[in-house]
Amino acid sequence: MNPAQRIVVAGGGTAGWMAAAAIAHTMGETVELTLVESDAIGTVGVGESTIPPLATFNRVIGVKEADFMRATSATFKLGIWFEGWRTGEPNDRYFHSFGLTGRDHWSAGFQHFWLHGREKGHGEPYDDYCLELMAARAGKFAHLPDNRMNYAYQLDATAYGRFLRGLAEKNGARRIEGKIAKVQLDGESGDIAALMLESGERIEGDLFLDCTGFRALLIEQALHAGFDDWTHWLPCDAAIAIQTDSVHAAPPYTRAMAHDAGWQWRIPLQHRTGNGLVYCSRYLSRDDALERIRGNIEGAAITEPNFLRFTTGARRRQWYRNCIAIGLSGGFMEPLESTSIHLIQRAVLRLIRMMPAGRVSERDIAEFNDQQRIDMEQIRDFLILHYKATDRSDSAFWRHCAAMEIPETLAHKIDLFRETGRVFRRNEELFAENSWVQVMMGQGIVPQHYHPIAAKLGDAELDRLLSGLRENVSRTVGSLPAHAEYVARYCAAK
Ligand code: FAD
Repeated sequence: MNPAQRIVVAGGGTAGWMAAAAIAHTMGETVELTLVESDAIGTVGVGESTIPPLATFNRVIGVKEADFMRATSATFKLGIWFEGWRTGEPNDRYFHSFGLTGRDHWSAGFQHFWLHGREKGHGEPYDDYCLELMAARAGKFAHLPDNRMNYAYQLDATAYGRFLRGLAEKNGARRIEGKIAKVQLDGESGDIAALMLESGERIEGDLFLDCTGFRALLIEQALHAGFDDWTHWLPCDAAIAIQTDSVHAAPPYTRAMAHDAGWQWRIPLQHRTGNGLVYCSRYLSRDDALERIRGNIEGAAITEPNFLRFTTGARRRQWYRNCIAIGLSGGFMEPLESTSIHLIQRAVLRLIRMMPAGRVSERDIAEFNDQQRIDMEQIRDFLILHYKATDRSDSAFWRHCAAMEIPETLAHKIDLFRETGRVFRRNEELFAENSWVQVMMGQGIVPQHYHPIAAKLGDAELDRLLSGLRENVSRTVGSLPAHAEYVARYCAAK
């Protein structure tokens, strides 16, 4: 029997507490888990829009959905409205939904059948075939049998941290309040031996999780794991977040509204709305950014502006020696598709799968880093797509985005779709075909050809397929309750 691994989590933001809650729940007494955080430093205080796999994470750590939603004032999220990303004109918007459009077929995605239908005179928009999209547009939501409605959450990040802390401590995690003053390395191996707190307390461990946010206190400041800067592809480097009162019933979606040097989010929770202006500081000053967000919020501000700076990119080695970067310490690719909390989840679950039995294996480290890197590069490409595939030329920022070089992997994906209508998903890629198709078509990339199998359908069969799918969506949406009412009922039920 191996002695219990001593795991030390440095930092108690969303990353630290997600890691602690999952490890404590899953590993129990086989590990000795300590988390150090500093109230004086605090957390980044943003990160409220999520994607569907978070429901799986909550199940893994034994959380009931209604409890979680009550604790975090969460709403359901069916996707994101992208407004002004293609032309910047007032009617320029498209929805990236979490659902499936049309029907799934192993040989060819629904876009092929829709393109064939369009050639045959079926003029209904692609959107009409997606349940989640049409429900979002109608402001409706309900859980449906067989998980037919795919959704995520919009949540209060600070409250989620508190909720996870409760679970982690119940399952044996020990929390220490204090500021880490020094990371002590082992003179022989170069591994981290202990964290020294300002109070003089010394915390030894076998495995250290760096959840210290942008500071990356362990993985970078102490171990110098390196950072790949992706600013030339993802140029936004600043944000201002302000929370406001709710003035409308919460809709089941996040809004991403492009402006001339970045974009603005609006995330509705049960009791308030999160707003943030993301921008590129080369093209917009902090004062102008503040004025712009103040001019485009609904309701009264309930917090002071939270000013954030970041460099988009990824830690070169996410796991280095006996330290694993989880959360912002491992990199940040900007919040456009709400992927950061998901990357925390992936890293935490991956680490649990690779939990060392005694000594850390170099093979585990290599495998972990390889898998993390693939995840991050795939997400990176998906994000770049939104900036690159634009017809906007109304500002220096958008002209830069339209002209910039992009990774070969993304160029291939765009060209393949443009020529053939095909999207392939490799290595369990997070964003599946439906996501790529919705965003590529939303940004104005229309395939020149479609799969010949679509033309196999006779006119009557095609008509039946398309009208049947549309009617099914429209009937289901008609039967759904309003989202905000559903949330209130769901959270009130015991
Ligand atoms: P932090 O929240 O910064 O936590 C760091 C922790 O380390 C804190 O507890 C701090 O006290 C502690 N710490 C640091 N130094 C020390 C020290 N010396 N001693 C002791 N403790 C220390 N993600 C999404 O999924 N969806 C979104 O919509 C989204 N929006 C975002 C918008 C913006 C503008 C930004 C910047 C990020 C956004 N994110 C989003 C990312 C998300 O906020 C983070 O992934 C998430 O909050 C995790 O942060 P963290 O725990 O890594 O870091």
